[in-house]
Amino acid sequence: MTQDDLGLKNRHKLMYDAEGRLDLKSLTREELERWFVEGLGEKRFRALQVYKWIWQRGISDFAEMTNVSKDLRALLAERAYLCTLSERLVQRSSDGTAKYLWGLEDGYAVESVLIPEEDRITLCVSSQVGCAMGCRFCLTGDMGLVRHLKPSEIVNQVAQINAELPEDRRITNLVFMGMGEPLHNLEHLDTSLQILLDDDALNFSHRKITVSTSGLVPQIGKLAERTPVNLAISLNASTEAQRREIMPITERYSMASVIEAARNYPLGSGKRITFEYVMFKDFNDSLEDAARLYRLLRGIKAKVNLIPYNENPSRDYRKPDAQTVKAFQNYFVSRGLNCSVRSTRGDDISAACGQLGREASGVGG
Ligand code: SF4
Repeated sequence: MTQDDLGLKNRHKLMYDAEGRLDLKSLTREELERWFVEGLGEKRFRALQVYKWIWQRGISDFAEMTNVSKDLRALLAERAYLCTLSERLVQRSSDGTAKYLWGLEDGYAVESVLIPEEDRITLCVSSQVGCAMGCRFCLTGDMGLVRHLKPSEIVNQVAQINAELPEDRRITNLVFMGMGEPLHNLEHLDTSLQILLDDDALNFSHRKITVSTSGLVPQIGKLAERTPVNLAISLNASTEAQRREIMPITERYSMASVIEAARNYPLGSGKRITFEYVMFKDFNDSLEDAARLYRLLRGIKAKVNLIPYNENPSRDYRKPDAQTVKAFQNYFVSRGLNCSVRSTRGDDISAACGQLGREASGVGG
């Protein structure tokens, strides 16, 4: 049975390994069940048993599934495989932040960043090798898009790090803000979210998952139809011209259309759309910018996350001073709009926003 027979949507070229075996960790529970029944002639409940072994017990070899018959284990080993990321490097910051560099099957690499705080442990997840969006301030953008990550590669970032953590210090929150534009890889993101949210797999709450986008308007609508996770918009400007200068995607989807898509995004009770705003000195950090941004967001259940730019020698942009950031924040807070300043984490290991870059890609060897 091929992946077309399975009706898998828009699936990745790496769904099969060199020996033609199927990557089981890239299937949703329903797809796995269908493959068991139609592809293997097995009972549906066996699929659920295997699915739980994979995601709840974290097995890396079918031989570990002690309540599954020897024959089925042998059949699975012949027809399927369990994709694992190879942990190439873990860099730990003095503030507790940890940056993981993962090797992929085809030699490329991506990063995830673990950010422990008192009340939560957040993992920043990558969705692509490189990124096609080319935001001027972002190192990942320099690489262009190398390839999408497949679902197993996305979910494994979470599952493999969780397996290393003590039981009472496991990941509580996920943000899709690592390498890549997650909505450009919507099919695989969707499958990954189904596995992350499934009670029989990783069992995250949709309230604890945030997908961040640079503003792919049609995909924002599609995400809303499929999975009720939190949405973050990387806005970074208060006028169309400003945004066009730093985010080329604005040529395709205007800032106004992005804000309109956010306005129409269905929100569950108590949820808000996050607008991320990277602040650059003397570019978008004035009180006029704050006033324009405030007007743009009027009527939206929004919170604004200010991110003072992390300076990088390869860019001319500068970080605004703390006073300017505070004044910008106060403009919103004094008008009742929820606004926080993201504290810089992992500075000493280049784990901060926009610093996941070329060295991670494996491009060129
Ligand atoms: S900021 Fe995000 S969307 Fe823009 S280039 Fe970087 S990874 Fe891509």
